[in-house]
Amino acid sequence: MKYFQEKTETMAPEEIRKLQSEKLVRQVRHVYEHVEPYRWKMDEAGVRPEDIRGVEDLPKLPFLTKGDLRDEYPWGFLAVPRKDCVRIQSTSGTTGRRVVAFYTQHDVDLWEECCARAIVAAGGSEEDVVQVAYGYGLFTGGPGLNGGSHKVGCLTLPMSSGNTDRQIQFMMDLGATILCCTPSYAAYLGESLRERGISPEDNPLRAGIFGAEPWTEEMRRSIEKTLGIKAYDIYGLTETSGPGVAFECAEQAGMHINEDHFIAEVIDPDTGEVLPEGSRGELVFTSLDKEAFPLLRYRTRDICILSRRKCACGRTFVRMTKPMGRSDDMLIIRGVNVFPSQIETVLLKEGYAPNYQIVVDRVNNSDTFDILVEMDEAMFGDTVSAVTGREKALVAAMRAMLGIGPAVHLVAPHSIQRSEGKAVRVIDKRKLVTEDENFLNRKN
Ligand code: ADP
Ligand code: ZN
Repeated sequence: MKYFQEKTETMAPEEIRKLQSEKLVRQVRHVYEHVEPYRWKMDEAGVRPEDIRGVEDLPKLPFLTKGDLRDEYPWGFLAVPRKDCVRIQSTSGTTGRRVVAFYTQHDVDLWEECCARAIVAAGGSEEDVVQVAYGYGLFTGGPGLNGGSHKVGCLTLPMSSGNTDRQIQFMMDLGATILCCTPSYAAYLGESLRERGISPEDNPLRAGIFGAEPWTEEMRRSIEKTLGIKAYDIYGLTETSGPGVAFECAEQAGMHINEDHFIAEVIDPDTGEVLPEGSRGELVFTSLDKEAFPLLRYRTRDICILSRRKCACGRTFVRMTKPMGRSDDMLIIRGVNVFPSQIETVLLKEGYAPNYQIVVDRVNNSDTFDILVEMDEAMFGDTVSAVTGREKALVAAMRAMLGIGPAVHLVAPHSIQRSEGKAVRVIDKRKLVTEDENFLNRKN
């Protein structure tokens, strides 16, 4: 089995464009009629549904941002009656920043088909045993790959994340051949196998489908070696359904975007101008088939490059590089979205001045997360145990806000370097982005 849906996945580019145009016209009408906040946006921009006659008219439509979705939480962007929805999922975003995405049964089916395409592109078939070690629940990783695995007909192990002993036991006893999880968890599983004296040849795995967070080519090679597998990238976001918006094929040269369901554009994040193929910019998605939560021109904030060069695998869908960074200040730490503004909010609420620095690093394939916070003179005169107590209280407050606990270090007044211009709030030492601009041209 080479493709999950061969006819679609190998469609001629002009056919794809035609299909996208037809679907876009229909989708714009659906959104205009049923999503009030987007109708306001279109009215404000002076664009009517009948102005959109095909993909070439897309730039006339206004952009959508995470802020727009948050403002209308939870129901504002729901485009069908509530009774037609069968599911929600939600971003890992935390207090006040959550986005809830709705699905009809049709939406779930199409999403799972996208994940099925990814599994087949990674060599999967009904002969495979797929171990899904992404989190289940609100997070899209587990449910998406679980559904995709069912659609391909694989024996699916719905492990969810964590409990490494049980992961390894089931992997070995049930002969898991494909592992789906975050790249950092894959690396951790690799180390854990090694610690237990199980060599790469002795585990039954032969492929892995890893995503939901940035990872480098170096990390890919390292995971491939420690697990003895071929590692495939998968990309998506809750707002556009979840993982499977784009997936890698055996060429490992960028991820094919499922263009029958999504139109991808790359824009200049400052001006909003659409950039030509091959330019580095912010990825924008329009979902063509989603009924319940159809987003038009949604700004992902992910920076990447698109390529239409022919891929040796035979798929005709456009390819995107791994995200090379973000056009906002969001950090992804241990898979959780963290905004510096959330940290600032906690500090101000707890009576600190906003003099702080966030330091993120990756040690042994897992993220470290430290926050340095300046004390004022009065606090600085406190006893050691009082300072330790304050640090503990801050960790708890941060955990409540972010969903993950950083290490908090209270430091002397004026010890964090002041900058002349914009404050340097974040020091991210993880080299997570692939800077290789020729990435898409490899092997093609
Ligand atoms: P989740 O709940 O899956 O974390 P979010 O919607 O909160 O979903 O996060 C989506 C973001 O995760 C994307 O915008 C992107 O920045 C990041 N992401 C997802 N897949 C990948 C990947 N394969 N490589 C790098 N970053 C990824
Ligand atoms: Zn390909």
